[in-house]
Amino acid sequence: MQRDRYLCRRCLEHGRVTSATDSHHIRKMATHPDLHLDADNRVSLCRECHEVLEKDAD
Ligand SMILES: [Zn+2]
Ligand SMILES: [Zn+2]
Repeated sequence: MQRDRYLCRRCLEHGRVTSATDSHHIRKMATHPDLHLDADNRVSLCRECHEVLEKDAD
């Protein structure tokens, strides 16, 4: 989390700087249990972006 400076990664991609409030797992733990401790599988997001990504996920 420190590497992201608690900024929302998705907002940054869209040119916005927003404080991150959530940590999202890119790959589902159910299908990728081996990635549970992989820091690269986590991304800092703000609440709004997190909800969007969770809706997009199958
Ligand atoms: Zn965001
Ligand atoms: Zn999530």
